[in-house]
Amino acid sequence: MKVIEKRVTIVGGGLVGCIWAVFLAKRGYHIDVYERRGDMRAASYTGGRSINLAMSTRGWNALEKAGISEQLRSVAIPMPGRIMHSTQGELTHQPYGKDGQAIYSVSRGGLNKALLELADGFENVTFHFHEKCVALDDSTCDLVFEHELTKQKTSVQSDLVFATDGAYSAIRNTLQRQPRFNYSQQYLDYGYKELTIPATANGEYAMDANGLHIWPRGKFMMIALPNPDCSFTCTLFMPFDGDNSFASLQTEQDLTSFFEQYYADTIPLMPDYTTEYFSNPTPALVTVKCHPWSFKSKVLLLGDAAHAIVPFYGQGMNCGFEDCTILDSLIDEHNEDWDSIIAHFDDTRYKDSDAVAELALRNFIEMRDLVGDPLFLLRQKITAYLHQQYPTEFLPLYTQVTFSFIPYHKALAEGIAQDRLFEQIFAIPDVAADWTTEAVHTTFKKWLQEKEVK
Ligand code: FAD
Repeated sequence: MKVIEKRVTIVGGGLVGCIWAVFLAKRGYHIDVYERRGDMRAASYTGGRSINLAMSTRGWNALEKAGISEQLRSVAIPMPGRIMHSTQGELTHQPYGKDGQAIYSVSRGGLNKALLELADGFENVTFHFHEKCVALDDSTCDLVFEHELTKQKTSVQSDLVFATDGAYSAIRNTLQRQPRFNYSQQYLDYGYKELTIPATANGEYAMDANGLHIWPRGKFMMIALPNPDCSFTCTLFMPFDGDNSFASLQTEQDLTSFFEQYYADTIPLMPDYTTEYFSNPTPALVTVKCHPWSFKSKVLLLGDAAHAIVPFYGQGMNCGFEDCTILDSLIDEHNEDWDSIIAHFDDTRYKDSDAVAELALRNFIEMRDLVGDPLFLLRQKITAYLHQQYPTEFLPLYTQVTFSFIPYHKALAEGIAQDRLFEQIFAIPDVAADWTTEAVHTTFKKWLQEKEVK
């Protein structure tokens, strides 16, 4: 391995920080990773949350390039479709893609640990735990870290700084004081609560493990993803205020009545839901956009630090991992000239993170409201039919986002164009009874032509 003399500092040893350390370590850079929390491999470690994440094609691609995909595939649980639960407890299955296409449930903590272990195995990578970044000197780009236990401060000089310190990034906070730094932060009026469906007494899954379970209920919803220990992590998304909100469920009686009305099929499966509900936190959901992501060609924001999105398309980590694969390929394209690499990345990538932020917000409405809606279900069927009839000309939006490398901004534009197509298709008389008619094909071809002209 060639040795590169540049000193690289990565702030934040989360998912993106660790995988980016692996990419750079393979190229021979000297890397120091500073992480606010303790070492998650230590027996005494208690930090972090127990959530699981949906990994899709963009994420797997980064793991493959990092050389860790095989190890993780063996513990990832395929979810080839949605399994919807009606209020009466009836189940409906909706495949996400074609045969064999699936998103995968992975443990966030398990993945982080595996990536940390892989990065730490390189002799040119050093991890520093309990080190919280507290300042970035805007003239030298030196960083100041404070040890969380001893409170000792250390100043660190580097040639390149990558800020992967998450949605509430300290480095981004400093950059916000720079002129012409654009920043926006938007909270949903919704929060979420994690609950558990444990394994059965026989140590088996209490529901079908091969799918992402959704209980869509209009203005609120619950989802559940399977874990390797045969439990499910459920996430209840609800408004903070108003009817059927976190504010309205104050007592055990409120909660029990609410579950009996909307999630009755889960009550026998969730023995501790009341205890968990009243003891678990209720985090908020935020979209963060900012630009530029770089400072003095020396500091670059990546992952959630640059673009935090709401979780409804399951793309936050996938997008952060794709940042790394794209940046890695730019290193070759620009022959290790970091001024050009950073400028290129900064000028181009934000279009995609803005688009995936928008897609994630749109998918929230789809998941909580539409997945049980007859028109939405009809659209799904016609989408599958058109894709089968015109496999190259018509790719479903979900497939573009989840199972392809099509840039998110192109996928969003295509999704908006598909909305126009469906307005026209739904205007065809009796289309719900038969969507294989000549009228549907003519409408599709006309839409395709118009799209190509544009
Ligand atoms: P983080 O994972 O937040 O890591 C940041 C790291 O920086 C942490 O280790 C933190 O301790 C450290 N740090 C913070 N501040 C400092 C500091 N000042 N100094 C030093 N270190 C610091 N994404 C998907 O792709 N699929 C999903 O299904 C999915 N589901 C989600 C569900 C929920 C409920 C939520 C909230 C998110 C979900 N996401 C999902 C998004 C995903 O979790 C994030 O996009 C991903 O964790 C971002 O990784 P990151 O490394 O950029 O940030």
